[in-house]
Amino acid sequence: MGKLDGRVVLVTGAARGQGEQEARLFREEGAEVVVADVLDDQGRGLAQEIGALYVHLDVSREDDWRAAVQSVIDAHGRVDGLVNNAGILRFNALLDTPLDEFMKIVNVNQVGCFLGIKAVAPRMSDGGTIVNTASYTGVTGMAGVGAYAATKHAILGLTRVAALELAPRGIRVNAMCPGAIDTAMSNPAVLDPAMDSEEAARGLDRFYRKVVPLGRIGRPEEVAALALFLTCDDSSYITGQPFVIDGGWLAGVSIG
Ligand code: NAD
Repeated sequence: MGKLDGRVVLVTGAARGQGEQEARLFREEGAEVVVADVLDDQGRGLAQEIGALYVHLDVSREDDWRAAVQSVIDAHGRVDGLVNNAGILRFNALLDTPLDEFMKIVNVNQVGCFLGIKAVAPRMSDGGTIVNTASYTGVTGMAGVGAYAATKHAILGLTRVAALELAPRGIRVNAMCPGAIDTAMSNPAVLDPAMDSEEAARGLDRFYRKVVPLGRIGRPEEVAALALFLTCDDSSYITGQPFVIDGGWLAGVSIG
């Protein structure tokens, strides 16, 4: 028996990173999974490997959402779960952030999450689940990522309101707030052949060993396990809540 037997779950930004691990774990737990991304080759490859459906979905485009939801209904006749995972990060001091960069981040992270809820919830089975991916920068500030942090705070607001409005249908809506997780987002060097990604990883490792109480960066599989908990019946009485998963980074001020 899998924890998601009989359920159909769409994961955005699932071609790589945390979304990929969520898609893999949900499939292992018996769900019909829909892998959605803008990285078509990678997404299709993953979907083929795990026996999932792939849909091209730019989360910032309402038309893409309409088509994606229709594809899910055509293929499986229902949708029970959504993980709004897709996101982008740019580093810039607030005063140096051009408006178009700010709006691009808003459009993917915040509008993407809003459109996902708006497109999927009306077609979702009663008792379904929505998991939004915020960040630890959704519950505290971090210099250099102002636009990103603003969108992640906004996602927590969306989560709470959606939880209240969808509760009469038994649809639960929660948010994950990961700290530093070992994906291309925290180590962009893995995507750049001109950079030494292993050296970059060693530098990050030294940094996280100092600042994270558990002494290491998180693994995308660990976030996937939280997404599974929030998507399956183990969390049946939990809705409207943010869940920090950060190795203790936000637990308090370090004096070491
Ligand atoms: P990642 O960059 O490996 O994955 C992000 C995925 O989103 C990619 O597959 C990318 O193609 C996809 N994506 C980007 N724009 C999209 C769009 N417009 N439409 C559809 N898909 C799009 O990074 P990740 O760490 O796996 O990030 C997953 C989520 O976790 C993001 O929301 C991110 O903000 C959040 N997060 C990451 C960290 C971290 O340290 N890695 C920490 C906190 C929160």
